[in-house]
Amino acid sequence: MNAYPPPRVSVASATERQGSAREGALDISFEFFPPKTPDAERRLWQAITALAPLRPRFVSVTYGADGGTRERTHATVVRILRDTELTPAAHLTCVGATRDEIDAIAHRYWQAGVRHIVALRGDPPGGVGARYEPHPGGYAYAADLVAGLRRVADFEISVAAFPEVHPEAASAEADLDNLKRKLDAGARRAITQFFFDPAVYLRFLERVRAAGITAPIVPGIFLISNFRRTVEFARKCNATIPDWLTRMFAGLDDDPANRALVAAAAAAEQCRILQAHGVREFHFYPEPRRVDDGRVPHAAGAGTSVGRRGRRKHGDTARGPGLT
Ligand SMILES: Cc1cc2nc3c(=O)[nH]c(=O)nc-3n(C[C@H](O)[C@H](O)[C@H](O)COP(=O)(O)OP(=O)(O)OC[C@H]3O[C@@H](n4cnc5c(N)ncnc54)[C@H](O)[C@@H]3O)c2cc1C
Repeated sequence: MNAYPPPRVSVASATERQGSAREGALDISFEFFPPKTPDAERRLWQAITALAPLRPRFVSVTYGADGGTRERTHATVVRILRDTELTPAAHLTCVGATRDEIDAIAHRYWQAGVRHIVALRGDPPGGVGARYEPHPGGYAYAADLVAGLRRVADFEISVAAFPEVHPEAASAEADLDNLKRKLDAGARRAITQFFFDPAVYLRFLERVRAAGITAPIVPGIFLISNFRRTVEFARKCNATIPDWLTRMFAGLDDDPANRALVAAAAAAEQCRILQAHGVREFHFYPEPRRVDDGRVPHAAGAGTSVGRRGRRKHGDTARGPGLT
């Protein structure tokens, strides 16, 4: 089945410069939410155990809008480091904390052996779409946070990118300038907001490369569970839902088994088209409220990663906290 219209963009030059456009194994990563209940915790560890053989480059753990998940995020990240062979990445945001408080969290991660931070401005405490107010004395935007983290220690830092433009950005150009600022401040890669039409990502990649940005721009692949909720969430995030995707989910509101099948097929097809354009890195997002769906990475060919990579030793590129 080819559910997607072929991308109509010329992307050869952009993908050639993506840096990992080679045949063979994929570099994948997963994102998890810190569990709220013992049942969610049990499901999370089941998912982590099931996905571990795919040897993801890293697995990241999100951070709540107002820092409310701070301890749960920390505990989950540290447990991944302690109990698995996986490399964890901790999400950290600017919201609701002073610079000193955020620096202290980063120091604590470093002391625990965590070397990768996904640095974000964060959703406002009112949720996606609510008005954002920088915390007085806090880092105002993600670029400021990246610079702050670089002062704390030699973290590997990932940041967010928005193929369909961040909803609060003054313009597409301003948003691209912001991405450049984050990378110039010391981030190593960007992970994109989810999108459903591969052409959206490929066009964005062309603009990014034309702006002189050479860092990896890893596509964020969203694993749909509840299509209605996804439509609502996508509207707030400025992510377009193509008509063909709506048609694929038509009539499946009360049919979770077929919905899961369609969701996995749609995401796997999205990965296949991107691979055909030279993309070899993927970041998989589960829909909020569910843990994960390992079928998509398998269907996308991530099984070729099995047994390929172990965790890098902590401190391989390390510089101690406070050393610059
Ligand atoms: C991969 C990924 C993971 C995520 N994980 C989390 C998470 O764990 N927790 C969470 O709360 N949220 C998370 N989010 C959501 C993210 O926090 C929101 O999308 C947020 O609104 C933007 O974050 P950012 O880091 O891109 O912000 P920024 O890069 O700071 O940009 C935010 C907006 O401000 C604009 N801007 C930047 N600098 C300036 C300036 N100096 N003056 C004026 N405008 C400026 C930008 O153009 C943009 O519109 C994640 C998003 C992605 C893509």
